[in-house]
Amino acid sequence: MTEIKGQCLCGAVNVTAQTDDPKLRACHCDMCRQHTSGAFFSIKTVPGSEIVEGPVQTYRSSEWAERGFCPTCGSTLWYGTVADKARNFAAGLFPNAGGAPLVIEFFADQCPQGYALSGTHKKLTADETIALFTGNDA
Ligand SMILES: [Zn+2]
Repeated sequence: MTEIKGQCLCGAVNVTAQTDDPKLRACHCDMCRQHTSGAFFSIKTVPGSEIVEGPVQTYRSSEWAERGFCPTCGSTLWYGTVADKARNFAAGLFPNAGGAPLVIEFFADQCPQGYALSGTHKKLTADETIALFTGNDA
């Protein structure tokens, strides 16, 4: 298990978390792109291991999810699901994105035409992404 430490742009918010198998995930959905101006890159951390210090605000972006951000500098902190309180932390908070490799893209068919992420990782369409997270075969 490795401890990673990161902070928002202004340094008001500090995040410490454990990773056992650091992996990056990118999401191209409309909400993630609006919130981050690109794909939302998150890093897989051990659930419950995250310690967040400093002022934080959340925005309820859908019935099931919220997005955390720093009220001073606006840095994206996490995407979280409300029911289970799981949080996917923004990889950009951590130096070198936690040293983690990109393993999957969500909503890959909604990635804007003007750019693409290279590599041989998995790319799920919107339907495949929704099926994965709802347990429905779409
Ligand atoms: Zn900040």
